[in-house]
Amino acid sequence: MAKKDYYDILNINKNATEIEVKRAYKRLAIKFHPDRNPGDKNAENKFKEIKQAYEVLSDAKKRAAYDQYGHAAFEQDSSTTTTTDFSDIFGDVFGDIFGNSRTNKTTRGADLQYIINISLEESIKGIIKEIQVPFLKNCTYCKGTGSKGPLQQCYTCHGQGQIHMSQGFFTVQQTCPKCHGKGSFIKNVCFSCTGKGKIEVHKKLSVKIPSGINTGDRIRLHGEGETANNTKFSSGDLYIEIRILKHFLFVREENNLSCILPISFTTAALGGEIDVPTINGIIKIKIPPETQTGKIFRIRNKGIRSIKNGVIGDLLCTIKVETPISLNNVQKNILYNLEQSMIHNTLNNVYYPKIKKFLQNIKLFFRNLNI
Ligand SMILES: [Zn+2]
Ligand SMILES: [Zn+2]
Repeated sequence: MAKKDYYDILNINKNATEIEVKRAYKRLAIKFHPDRNPGDKNAENKFKEIKQAYEVLSDAKKRAAYDQYGHAAFEQDSSTTTTTDFSDIFGDVFGDIFGNSRTNKTTRGADLQYIINISLEESIKGIIKEIQVPFLKNCTYCKGTGSKGPLQQCYTCHGQGQIHMSQGFFTVQQTCPKCHGKGSFIKNVCFSCTGKGKIEVHKKLSVKIPSGINTGDRIRLHGEGETANNTKFSSGDLYIEIRILKHFLFVREENNLSCILPISFTTAALGGEIDVPTINGIIKIKIPPETQTGKIFRIRNKGIRSIKNGVIGDLLCTIKVETPISLNNVQKNILYNLEQSMIHNTLNNVYYPKIKKFLQNIKLFFRNLNI
């Protein structure tokens, strides 16, 4: 395939001055730069073509050779030209278009995270919490430069942060190895921040924690994160992550609350009414006769209202039958007589089906073992 004329590629005439070449290149390079045309193969090829044309026409010697011999002048060079990486081939022209954004990338401050432990009651009511957040802010003495007095300009790159090196026909731009692209040094270290440019401070913040919040929920405080290195950029955000502490009565799972409900063995046997705590106060629930340990009563809509969708959870009460302690002789007698009246230690037991089943299983076990 015949190669296109370099002057045509840059859309300039044969007498174009050095400045005109540069200007034409700059305009086209911006238009077809891969950063602006991600994934566009055509633009990428076009860009390579423009770059190649510029490399020749911007160099007086190469341009003269091209004018005389055409593409034949660079036959052996063409392969090395096209395989060179975009970022390091560009000389002075490109440096001021994209170079700065590549080598000296400045962005907004970092987001920070802070964990707040709250009680279940606080999560139910909602609360305003005062917190002290440690964060790095730009040193007020040096304004974040880390330097006492003005910065010393880098003598290697003369403050540019970039150096240009000639490699054969090409000028290669590189980040200055002395100052690592900063263009300057700290001559005298700032006494306040010892050259770091930032100091750790604590700031007080009031955080409004809404009712219904749960463990793992996060509250974003816009702009309360770390300050950016450069005042042109905004600070990061502060994320407050909520942890609800273990509670002495309830366990929260999603929007449900659950608790253990101890009941007397008489209530368990005869049934009755007992008080159950909810987040809105005491309510009474009916315990049916013959209630066993482990039975769960679900009380609808007595859980917590979700802050995400407003759905209200349930209250789950797990029954635990309690054996009485500290019985006096009269009471013990009553129980003894009760026990006598039931004569349950036989396989005809109708009072305790679990004990009956247990005895049957023991019998089966021994029969299997031939004991
Ligand atoms: Zn300082
Ligand atoms: Zn330097």
